[in-house]
Amino acid sequence: MDGNIVLTNTCAFDALASLIMVSYCDSNKYSTKIDFNHNEFLNFISKIVKNGITSATYSERADLIINKTKPEMQQLQYGTMLVCCDTTITNVVNSMFKEFPSVTEKTTCSSNCQLTTNSLKLKIYLSYQTENGQIKDLQGFLDSQLKSVQSTCQYMDSEIVCKGVEEIMPNISDMHLFIDVFYWEDGLVSNNRSSETTEQVKMRLSDIPKLLVYNDITYELRGVISFQPAQSKLRTSSGHYNAYAIRGTKNWQLFDDLKKKPTPIKENKKISIELLVYTI
Ligand SMILES: [Zn+2]
Repeated sequence: MDGNIVLTNTCAFDALASLIMVSYCDSNKYSTKIDFNHNEFLNFISKIVKNGITSATYSERADLIINKTKPEMQQLQYGTMLVCCDTTITNVVNSMFKEFPSVTEKTTCSSNCQLTTNSLKLKIYLSYQTENGQIKDLQGFLDSQLKSVQSTCQYMDSEIVCKGVEEIMPNISDMHLFIDVFYWEDGLVSNNRSSETTEQVKMRLSDIPKLLVYNDITYELRGVISFQPAQSKLRTSSGHYNAYAIRGTKNWQLFDDLKKKPTPIKENKKISIELLVYTI
């Protein structure tokens, strides 16, 4: 893109990028996967880790955000473009990792009926609902998400109902797991829920499960994306995302795009949890 571009509220993108960069630095297995599986976002991450922040970084970041998350743009004077990047973290994860979902579900029918056309469902992230604010049974949740389910197909084609056996077979990513965490509110889950209206899940960094295991793959906790709701009710004020990364077994660092450097954080600090990032 040409001309001057001013980006506002890029915190959701920056928080996710920080955690993926940390994972790239700290895990040889993950960086090998990233270097092997290209997409624009993964290339952006590996370039920064290898070359540091260069003069090209800011325009590459702007291109990524503009092309993938479709933010609102406003033409200002003197050829300057204002890009309002406030969006939810799950939106950013969806747009950056479209090709690399956490779980892929394939549906088949034993009678090979029409049901099986276009039967691939991509879950870029998993949604974990907590009823008590705890996330200790995360491994149990993951296991339940990865069980294959059988049922009678019942697909209807010109008034004939298929009696085949439908099977949903989930397949886990061999790279990463993104888990969106939220409160179960009175048994109702709204599609329009926003971080501002839902009660937040708050817990100590040290209480987050460090490892998840499935088959012979171990996923290590790399960090958490946290959200601070807007301080005022004004429509112009939006909340702020930042990232807490875990380096080694218990060294936590806060990545906040309003601060110049990552800052060390005690593992008993209580924070709000929006998204958990695990990688190989
Ligand atoms: Zn069928």
